[in-house]
Amino acid sequence: MRSLTLRKITVKLVLFFTALIMVSSLVSFIASMIFAYNVENEIRLNQQAIARTILELEARTDLSLEEILQIASTFMYDAEPLRDADSLAQLPKPPDQLPPGESIFMGERPFHGTTTLLKIGDTVVQIRLRPQNTTYGIAASRSWRSALIYVAIGAVLASVLARRIVRPIIQLNAATKEIARGHFDIQLATESHDELGQLTQNFNRMARELKHMEYLHKDFIASVSHEFKTPIASIQGFARLLQKGNLSDSERDEYTRIIVEESARLSHLSSNIIRLSKLENQEIVSRKDLFYLDEQIRKCILLLEPEWEKKAIEWDIQLDRARYPGDEELLQQVWINLIGNAIKFSRQGGLISVALEHIAGGIRVTLEDQGAGMDQQTIPRIFEKFYQGDAAHSSEGSGLGLPLVKRILDLHNGTIQVTSQPGEGTCFTVDLPIPTEND
Ligand code: ADP
Repeated sequence: MRSLTLRKITVKLVLFFTALIMVSSLVSFIASMIFAYNVENEIRLNQQAIARTILELEARTDLSLEEILQIASTFMYDAEPLRDADSLAQLPKPPDQLPPGESIFMGERPFHGTTTLLKIGDTVVQIRLRPQNTTYGIAASRSWRSALIYVAIGAVLASVLARRIVRPIIQLNAATKEIARGHFDIQLATESHDELGQLTQNFNRMARELKHMEYLHKDFIASVSHEFKTPIASIQGFARLLQKGNLSDSERDEYTRIIVEESARLSHLSSNIIRLSKLENQEIVSRKDLFYLDEQIRKCILLLEPEWEKKAIEWDIQLDRARYPGDEELLQQVWINLIGNAIKFSRQGGLISVALEHIAGGIRVTLEDQGAGMDQQTIPRIFEKFYQGDAAHSSEGSGLGLPLVKRILDLHNGTIQVTSQPGEGTCFTVDLPIPTEND
């Protein structure tokens, strides 16, 4: 709980400023106490000295009281008889009971400021600061230097704090500009866990993601160029050979066949790339046809007959009747790709099992072959674009089949899982949820 509240920058700021205010008010309070007390004490001593002078002059000279008071008065203090009736009424004792020659120190009104009273004969003399001088005026004039120092210390502390708070914001600002310029390598150091610390960590994560995406993008372009380069080079090579002439009929047929095959591969590749990029930009299934999935799968097996006949594949087909609302054309692509792969990676005379069953909330299609299988390194990568496992390098294909399957199933909120053992076979399990009214 404690660390949680301290993580909030607002809490930190409030605590800091409260501490700052407390420290500075304490310091200035103590200082003003010391100064005011000192000044008052000093005034009292000065007034007592004047009182002593007056008593001395009174005892040793013949000067009149008026003259004595004139001599005793200074630039700071005024000594004069107290005649004001109000002030006389405020005395601690009636004037006639005041002991002669004794000085009384008065701190309160109406004896404004610090006043010393002295009884000479019947007259009460007051020694006080001249009106232009006050205790506070004197104290203030002495403490302005200290006040300046407090302000300076406060300013330094505040600027250190402001710098500490603002530094990560300045860093983030500069880093954002770098990102905008396309430099994704940037990472900011942070040890703090408050909101700014979290913002910095999220910024770092964003930069890493952007860098990863940039890498994927570059990688995609590199793969596309590579996939196109090979068939184009082969078409070019065989076309040159054809140009040369003096070829036998069988050579010409062979070269022409290769050119036709490679062009078909190129056209297949480009239509797959276009299809995938369209699907990647699509967020929902736009068409929802209600059709029989089992029929569709059967039709796909028939469509691929030329492929499996060559390999004398055997089939074990167990399809429950299942109506499904989805994009019929896209889902056909799923079965063609999966069944096509099963045939491609099967041995001569191998068995392929296809099953469709109803499960809770949806439909499950299982496709199992006894073909080449995949090793543990290949399995996690088969849904990456352009990825082809070792066993596939020699055979035709572009590594876009399974990414297409995955994307189409994603759009239908479906899932695909694979289990495989090298040399033993592969099993793909596709789960398609039946969409509810709200979907
Ligand atoms: P390709 O065009 O190469 O078949 P895919 O995306 O369809 O591309 O498949 C990617 C890789 O997954 C293949 O190169 C292969 O290594 C592996 N693969 C897919 N299906 C199977 C299967 N039934 N048996 C073994 N390996 C498979």
